[in-house]
Amino acid sequence: MPIYEYRCPRCDVFELTRGMGSAPAEEDCPTCGQRARRRISAPRLARTGTAAFRLIDAAERSASEPRVVSGTPPAPGRSARPAYSTNPLHQKLPRP
Ligand SMILES: [Zn+2]
Repeated sequence: MPIYEYRCPRCDVFELTRGMGSAPAEEDCPTCGQRARRRISAPRLARTGTAAFRLIDAAERSASEPRVVSGTPPAPGRSARPAYSTNPLHQKLPRP
């Protein structure tokens, strides 16, 4: 569900989660109770496509849909993965 931002005239900006397209133009502030107007803000899509987002997505997907394997895992000490990079920091990144 999307997160909508509201600006209270007395307090500050607060966020509420509402169904898509069902957020009213005004809501009561959870702190002081005054009417707060909805703000127009940019969607937070900056994380999609990043390595961190793909890792989180893969972890969430594996919780309900285990990855199908076609063979036994490689023997210890022998790496079956091709070397994509020699940088050791890249070894932690998710693979396709
Ligand atoms: Zn308020």
